[in-house]
Amino acid sequence: MREYHEQTRPELAGNPDAIIAAVRELRSLDAPTHGGRVLSYVYDTGISEIDDLAGDVARIVQPLNALDPTTFPSVAVMERDLIAFAREMLHGGSDVAGNVTSGGTESCLLAVRTARDLWRVGRDRFAIGRIVAPTTVHAAFRKAAKYFDMILDEVPVDPATGQVSAADVIERMGDDVALVVLSTPNYPYAGLDPVAEVAPVALEQGIALHVDACIGGFALPWWKGVAHAWDFAVPGVTSISADLHKYGFAPKGASILLHKGHARHRAQYFSITDWPGYPVVNPTMLGSKSAAPIASAWAIVQYLGTAGFAEQVALMQTATAELVAGLNQIEGLRVQGEPTGPLLAVVADESVAPDRRVNPHKLVDDIRASGWILQSQPGQVQTDGTLLPQSAHLTITPVTHGKTGDLLAAISASADRVRGVAGALESPMVLGGVAAIKAQFAALGVGENGEGLEQVPAEVMDQALAGLLLALGVGGSGGAGSEAVAGSGGAGSDLAGSGAGSELPANMSDLLAIAQLLPEPIATRILTEVLAQVIAP
Ligand SMILES: *Cc1c(COP(=O)(O)O)cnc(C)c1O
Repeated sequence: MREYHEQTRPELAGNPDAIIAAVRELRSLDAPTHGGRVLSYVYDTGISEIDDLAGDVARIVQPLNALDPTTFPSVAVMERDLIAFAREMLHGGSDVAGNVTSGGTESCLLAVRTARDLWRVGRDRFAIGRIVAPTTVHAAFRKAAKYFDMILDEVPVDPATGQVSAADVIERMGDDVALVVLSTPNYPYAGLDPVAEVAPVALEQGIALHVDACIGGFALPWWKGVAHAWDFAVPGVTSISADLHKYGFAPKGASILLHKGHARHRAQYFSITDWPGYPVVNPTMLGSKSAAPIASAWAIVQYLGTAGFAEQVALMQTATAELVAGLNQIEGLRVQGEPTGPLLAVVADESVAPDRRVNPHKLVDDIRASGWILQSQPGQVQTDGTLLPQSAHLTITPVTHGKTGDLLAAISASADRVRGVAGALESPMVLGGVAAIKAQFAALGVGENGEGLEQVPAEVMDQALAGLLLALGVGGSGGAGSEAVAGSGGAGSDLAGSGAGSELPANMSDLLAIAQLLPEPIATRILTEVLAQVIAP
């Protein structure tokens, strides 16, 4: 008999009320999901009936397995309706087909894998294709390139506006390009990529073009004044992703991927008959899956209808315009580029003297205490050597309407407090920390740019990381090795601010700056450790 430790809570056994109370208590740890205080991740209409409805229908379909719509036809009906709605919204005809996926990332991964497989037809079956996309393309495409052994060829955007030029994208096209990806809009700055200019050229050259409308897909169709067409109305667009769990206001777990041409859609399917079990024929990555996201999304689309979407989008458009105007009035800050859709990013205004600039990450850290949660986005060196500035991201949802005055007042007050404060990238403490971390990795035999990281024995790496995270104020255990970082110029002191446990440090701007300044393999290894420790038993 195997012995094991009891890992459940005995007081909860057989007691649903206590279990529900326990989950409610856990939920009190979370950022507020309603009321518009969190300007990323959550998409709140403020209509409580919608939340209730989504929960109620999820409960009805709870026992189903959406893996098999032939055994559970209700799932097929709801999926078909959602595809029809999205297809019409995106000006697709009867030659456009698609599926509901588990989210934007899955839609993007599938769009890439499908394009890669079609591109490989007539080529070596392991040929490595390129994905051409602006630097601002979502990380999901970096993931896709890694998963599917492709090269992501990043086209630099104008650092002053975040905008990519059509000519720069077109110039990269060639026989080894399996897919061009443009975003409408992109997540970092809400810039609308030049689909109308690029797609016809892609068509001419026989190159697939995916429009990533994960975030904009359910908003831009009702947005007034979009500069140009970007959906299936444009010849050359071969696929589009649009997330139901963003501006479709559905609970997480639902996105739509549409393809132009039935052959392209059919190529997305994974289908085998040569194993001893049931025939596996499915269009998405998951096997068994919940029908709840499909049912919730279906219910919300029925509830809102096109008139409801138009209404919600109008609220967001008003709020966004007020925010853009108000933010540009705050000395030391400016809105990056020209956002299209209900999201935007602010950067430091380089046109004013350094002591009048507002570092966006300092702003994000400061405004947290007033109960507003914005999202820090790191700066990045592009492939041409130009630097994209640090920024703060705001995703605007219908509940922000009517609250823009409060939000602007809070940002303005926060800007007053941090104006002229140097960003973490210039902090001696951060720079000292980076030097110490580099030294520590060098001592492990890791090269300047992270070469040889994988060769470090696991126990040695574990020890080093444990110490490092302790010095950074992340994670509880560890000990050995911490001197290397903590000892050098007090690198750990300020970073250790938030203290023990597996909580993340309060001062995210320092952690992000360290990540930005370290060679990528080292930064990603450290961040992986941080996130792994969050769930380590
Ligand atoms: C959110 C988003 C994705 C990825 O979607 P997830 O649902 O988070 O997996 C892809 N592209 C863009 C532009 C997005 O905003």
